[in-house]
Amino acid sequence: MFDLTEKVAIVTGGNGGIGLGMARGLAGAGAQVVIAGRDAAKSKAAATALAGGGRRALAIEVDVSDERSVVELFRATVERCGRLDILINNAGMNIRKPPQDYTTEEWCRVIDTNLTGAFLCARAAYPLMKAAGGGKVINIGSMMSIFGGWFAAPYGSSKGGIVQLTRSLAAAWARDNIQVNAVLPGWIDTDLTRQARVQVAGLHESVLGRTPAGRWGTIDDMAGIAVFLAAPASDFVTGTAIPVDGGYSIQG
Ligand code: NDP
Repeated sequence: MFDLTEKVAIVTGGNGGIGLGMARGLAGAGAQVVIAGRDAAKSKAAATALAGGGRRALAIEVDVSDERSVVELFRATVERCGRLDILINNAGMNIRKPPQDYTTEEWCRVIDTNLTGAFLCARAAYPLMKAAGGGKVINIGSMMSIFGGWFAAPYGSSKGGIVQLTRSLAAAWARDNIQVNAVLPGWIDTDLTRQARVQVAGLHESVLGRTPAGRWGTIDDMAGIAVFLAAPASDFVTGTAIPVDGGYSIQG
């Protein structure tokens, strides 16, 4: 039910943070994992670390906001791995400031990376998954898919959009046996949120206070949901947005 042997997965932004936690989960369940990010050295180091102990992983460079780069990632994946079964659209970034202070360039950079990047990758994955007889797309949303934040106008817009993109792709591709789901992480300790803790006063304490589990998440907390949504266990689950948040979203 959770066996990913013979499956090939791409994890965008898999060289660190949540992507790396999910990539570890997939590799542990037997998948061959392509770590796809802009920083080639970081991706190679992550793939090398993953590949130990009989696990298979490789690194391919991509900028998800660049259409040509995305096309090349999927071409190279098929050339090197022969197929594609699983895509995790995890690459993401944030620029935190009040809404009125964003330049148009900053707005577009966040939307292009977090939302358009996920669309470009899913579109490139579709014919390959169809050819394989099915597939799994896992899009990474956020608590900002549900809530607003004074510092998150483009980020929250991109993450709300991820949930709607997920539903549309799920509806369109269900008959092709491609399941598309979103994961909404709570507050997970990564480079992204270490930066947020510096930029947003009181964030650390408010996360601890509001999260029923009483702690920040770790990247290892993200492995199980990735395996579930990538595996046959979730074959009748599609179009959902599943919080993995220690209860953050159910407590006011
Ligand atoms: P990190 O900053 O640790 O990782 C972000 C990853 O995205 C890096 O691997 C980076 O690799 C990659 N990336 C960024 N821009 C691009 C791009 N244009 N093309 C390809 N890769 C890119 O952040 P997190 O692990 O925290 O975040 C991962 C995802 O989870 C994001 O979508 C984020 O919005 C989401 N999230 C995180 C939460 C948290 O609490 N940490 C909560 C909710 C959602 P490189 O620099 O090499 O390109």
